[in-house]
Amino acid sequence: MEKINRRGVLQTAGAMAMGAIAGCAVPVTANSSRAKTIFDVPQATIPIVGTSEQFPVRRIYCIGRNYAAHAREMGSDPTREPPFFFQKPSDAVQFVAPGQTTDHPYPPLTKNYHYEIELVAALNKGGRNIPVDQALQHVFGYAVGLDMTRRDLQRGMGEQKKPWEIGKSFDHSAPIGPLHPVAQIGHFTKGNIWLKVNGQTRQQADLSQMIWSVAEQISKLSEAFELMPGDIIYSGTPENVGPVVPGDVMEGHIDGLPNLLVKVV
Ligand code: MN
Repeated sequence: MEKINRRGVLQTAGAMAMGAIAGCAVPVTANSSRAKTIFDVPQATIPIVGTSEQFPVRRIYCIGRNYAAHAREMGSDPTREPPFFFQKPSDAVQFVAPGQTTDHPYPPLTKNYHYEIELVAALNKGGRNIPVDQALQHVFGYAVGLDMTRRDLQRGMGEQKKPWEIGKSFDHSAPIGPLHPVAQIGHFTKGNIWLKVNGQTRQQADLSQMIWSVAEQISKLSEAFELMPGDIIYSGTPENVGPVVPGDVMEGHIDGLPNLLVKVV
């Protein structure tokens, strides 16, 4: 037996060596955090309230048209539309510390730059085909976020039936407050969500008005993608989205979370 085993090992080693020579059969572990790379790339992170630890952002998912009145203002029928999702690059997160006004750069190419105030859920467990009744077990915590949008580019591309990524998925397009762990703050299924610009209320709704709940969003997303720890989900914005210009100060609120203060510069 020992001889066979040793021979087997030798054969395997020989096959691997041949594979290496042929330039194939070398295992690739692209997702391993221990892989040695040629230079360091910053990991996008979000501070976690009550700890010095950071939440590492893997992917940013966003749901579209998740409040009926917003779906109508975007020109669609909320009663007939299944949920749809898009992504932003993970390094689009811009941390906004509570109690301070953070400068946010007005992005290039747009003349119609819109706010969208949203509840954000952050996952610490992944999976595929997650049932709705188990979905909230995957949530680590929540934050207030802005899904900033170059509306003119989004609409222009949509009219041409081209991907509207350039309208949504650009640098700094995901301002976000600190993450509050579920263990301390619970889940968010209802409560006020609003956005003020220069002290005037522009968006106001209740989280219970979401067409698809956070649990349903996780379940639906997990049918299309394998969700992983580090994924965050922007859960959609209420109606009355609108523009900001340099100099405007946005204040975002969700009951139970600290307000987000962002100045467009
Ligand atoms: Mn949005």
